[in-house]
Amino acid sequence: MSIKIIVATKNSGKIREIKSIFNFDNWEIVTMKEENLDPEIREDGKTFEENSLIKARCVREEYLKTKPQDYVNYEKVYIFADDSGLEVDALNKEPGVFSARYMGEDTSYHIKNKAIIDRLEGVEEKDRTARFVCALSSIDMEGNEIVVRETMEGYIGYEEAGENGFGYDPIFMLPEYGCTSSEISMDEKNKISHRGKAIRKMLSELTGKKEGL
Ligand code: IMP
Repeated sequence: MSIKIIVATKNSGKIREIKSIFNFDNWEIVTMKEENLDPEIREDGKTFEENSLIKARCVREEYLKTKPQDYVNYEKVYIFADDSGLEVDALNKEPGVFSARYMGEDTSYHIKNKAIIDRLEGVEEKDRTARFVCALSSIDMEGNEIVVRETMEGYIGYEEAGENGFGYDPIFMLPEYGCTSSEISMDEKNKISHRGKAIRKMLSELTGKKEGL
């Protein structure tokens, strides 16, 4: 029997990343959409952990309601949900859990990034520290919950740079690289990113396997 993971996201990049890490023959990674699940999710938690759990619990409930017998065909079914964002220390850890909604969901990241740089005017490099945070939750059908949290540390630059990333990547400087997380390749970023690390940590929590990670 196989193990199924239902990923509670519509973001294809996140699904690809989880698939590349949970790359085992008997692990099936599917999206909410593929399972015809689209519950209304109110992300009103105060922390990344709370929001990721809200999403995972909501999708589990919908799955059990709409397909009550599906999970018996699997050795195990897990719902995965993540919540992530940027914390800027000099801005009291803003935008934090509001990262996607900062200045409005539809505002371009070029405008959001410029606003963050403007708000840091006069702040020295050593005080521009920031991090990307990712909380990743998993729930099985018995209701057992695991939450992991990982970060990628850096600082806010003085101008946007790079084309590879998304969101706040063009202003997020990686000290070990001397460039932004938008200037390194996606593969390189996955090795060091908050999300990549959280997914690998979840894998080791679920399987006890550490080798090859
Ligand atoms: P969510 O976890 O999909 O709700 O995304 C939260 C928001 O945090 C995104 O819309 C981005 O604004 C920001 N964010 C999270 N991870 C990253 C990243 O790796 N690079 C750039 N921005 C990110």
